[in-house]
Amino acid sequence: MSRTTTERIPEAVRRLRKVELHQHVDGSIPSRTLWRLLKRHGLHPVPTFREMRRRLELQPDEEGTLLAYLDKFYYPLWITQFYENVKEAAEAIVREAVSHNVRVLELRYSPVIHTYAGLTVRQAIRAVLSGMNTVIREVPDLRCGLVLIAMRQHGPHIAKILARQALGEAEHLHDRSGVVGFDIAGPERGNPPHLFREAFEIARAGGLGVTAHAGEDAGPEYVWQAIDEAGAQRIGHGCSAVTDKSLLRRLARDRILVECCPTSNYQTGAVRHGTPHPMLTFLEAGVPVALCTDNTNVSRTDQDREAARMLPQLGRDGIRILREVHRVAGEHTFIGHTGRTTPARAGERVRRPAARPRPSAS
Ligand SMILES: [Zn+2]
Repeated sequence: MSRTTTERIPEAVRRLRKVELHQHVDGSIPSRTLWRLLKRHGLHPVPTFREMRRRLELQPDEEGTLLAYLDKFYYPLWITQFYENVKEAAEAIVREAVSHNVRVLELRYSPVIHTYAGLTVRQAIRAVLSGMNTVIREVPDLRCGLVLIAMRQHGPHIAKILARQALGEAEHLHDRSGVVGFDIAGPERGNPPHLFREAFEIARAGGLGVTAHAGEDAGPEYVWQAIDEAGAQRIGHGCSAVTDKSLLRRLARDRILVECCPTSNYQTGAVRHGTPHPMLTFLEAGVPVALCTDNTNVSRTDQDREAARMLPQLGRDGIRILREVHRVAGEHTFIGHTGRTTPARAGERVRRPAARPRPSAS
């Protein structure tokens, strides 16, 4: 969506109190902040800010695949290897979200890829939390939490290590923001959720919320696995789930929320331009959804633009539906819920028989 859409944001959209459940730190650092941090470290990958912005924000001719989209995460990593930079980046992201009336904000982040200059995983986590807390002190009704991501391409063993680290920074151990959930992301096809079952078990046993990127670049069988084997309470994207009616019934029955990221989905090719977003099918099927930005900087979007983008598809009742979407999203936030799940309950959920035969591994 182009920046010019900003002027067309209806006032009713701006006023909506928003709940953001799916936003990545690395892809949401404002270009100006990144440029400033790069220069501070004497890094000049390109001569001008204009060119830098072109490299950081997805261009129309780059749309179409998830892998092209993931390429945009290259430059942010240059400077997010230092505590102060990560803190400053997180702070800028939270401030921007607040300016779009976001009051419940879950950011997600893979700490492992921020340790190349010597930060520990724990420091990499604390840097984001510290940035969040700076803004929380200024905005009393803001609630923030961090969802830790295991990168699929790092494999299940690193994911288990990370799940254990996540527990040590869980929200209930902190006065302000903390880690509230666990997720897998990165190249989806060939890295099915069942490979990460043990990491998810660790996270659940420690009382973290569980979500998984699934059904963005792979079929509905990955969503089934995320539910049945990872015990996911929420699904990131889940676009392909609309092709499977029994899966839609399962999502609705168990109140498993789908984190919908419309602009990102059109850009990665998960949803074809000119076709309705799966969010409509989810709503019709009674599946709880959240409206999310995924990566505000890469996708050149924000919470207002996502709402404005969906409004024409939602029809005359659009504002009321969006208000309800954010209300329901607020009920599904992991913030304020860590440390409450017992291992027995988590196991019980996963042992529940699948609604259909278990899909194959890939
Ligand atoms: Zn995502």
